[in-house]
Amino acid sequence: MQIYADNAATTKTSRTAIDAMLPYMDQIYGNPSSLHSVGQAANEALTKARQEIADCLGCEAREIYITSGGSEADNQALRSAAYFGAKKGKKHLISTAFEHHAILHTLDQLKEEGFEVTLLDVHENGYVTPEEVAAAIREDTALVSVMFANNEIGSVQPIAEIGAVCREKGVLFHTDAVQAVGHIAMQVKAMNIDMLSLSAHKFHGPKGVGVLYARRGVPLRSLINGGAQERGKRAGTENMPAIMGMAAALKEACANIPKNTEHLTAMRDKLIQGLSKIPHSVLNGDPVKRLPGNVHFCFEGIEGESLLLLLDAKGICASSGSACTSGSLDPSHVLLAIGRPHEIAHGSLRLSLSEENTMEEVDYMIETIPQVVEYLRNMSPVWRDLQEGRRTYVIQ
Ligand SMILES: *Cc1c(COP(=O)(O)O)cnc(C)c1O
Repeated sequence: MQIYADNAATTKTSRTAIDAMLPYMDQIYGNPSSLHSVGQAANEALTKARQEIADCLGCEAREIYITSGGSEADNQALRSAAYFGAKKGKKHLISTAFEHHAILHTLDQLKEEGFEVTLLDVHENGYVTPEEVAAAIREDTALVSVMFANNEIGSVQPIAEIGAVCREKGVLFHTDAVQAVGHIAMQVKAMNIDMLSLSAHKFHGPKGVGVLYARRGVPLRSLINGGAQERGKRAGTENMPAIMGMAAALKEACANIPKNTEHLTAMRDKLIQGLSKIPHSVLNGDPVKRLPGNVHFCFEGIEGESLLLLLDAKGICASSGSACTSGSLDPSHVLLAIGRPHEIAHGSLRLSLSEENTMEEVDYMIETIPQVVEYLRNMSPVWRDLQEGRRTYVIQ
């Protein structure tokens, strides 16, 4: 048996997406900027795909800017708002301590360029409040960027309320919704979102393509200069197969949100219940306000990396948190941001499910994971110290 439970890192490209992509390689292969019929066939498809994406987000087609993925969309959103703000003397940016590195590292660069950054503290359950955002906003604040749902611990933020605060104070609001789009119903207008990032490979679309939604009137700045594609805001011949795959995957995901949510939350909650029985374990993120497919635990006295290797040998593909930091031995900045101490932040496990997972797989994981945790603990000198009272448990 092989169980894929790492859908927050990436998802399998769906048959729907693949079928939508193939014709744009060998049949409708034109450049949408060409004036002849081969090019215009591609251009028509592009127009239709853009409208389908807009329909899923609740915005207009001309507010959709196609990018190479979530990271590029995040970079472009932050830089656009920062440079626009700077022109008006506003050089203060607000975000949170547990954003994706596409946000945090861009903010680091902007700091070097003379911007001031406030990173809001995150509550233990993995959210910031609209009141805290309001309190951080100053006269010179150019942008607030708060992620919709966290990619490690799955907590979902009060985005519409934070958006309302920003709108009232006249500050641009961006959300990295890469983990949320296709999984949670999205209405950018009703949620007061000025800019939003999404990425196709997180909802069964292809890798290397995403979108920056920018409300009409938001002054976007191009990061990639060249031709006039994406209304001059993102140059480069459109990646037609990827765009068509993204639009098809998004349409399918959005249509199935109610059905998928029901199946996913049932699996998620059963897994959470089963794994909570492991002694000295703690669930990270909010028990209720979390992504339908996200399960994230810390287990005291073990190393997340060893756990992942043993689980892989038993056919379970999981993650210790973020795919982007794996390979480094630093504990996750997300777990540190919600106040987990270093000792336990190393012993983390993320299971991120998709609608293709089954209850049988959940049962197998509930049976297997506690055995592997126990096996590792029996070999761990830290665990022996804890049991014999030479160290005190962090997780009761
Ligand atoms: C995956 C992810 C990204 C990066 O998206 P890519 O398309 O892989 O560049 C950004 N933010 C979050 C929250 C993510 O989960």
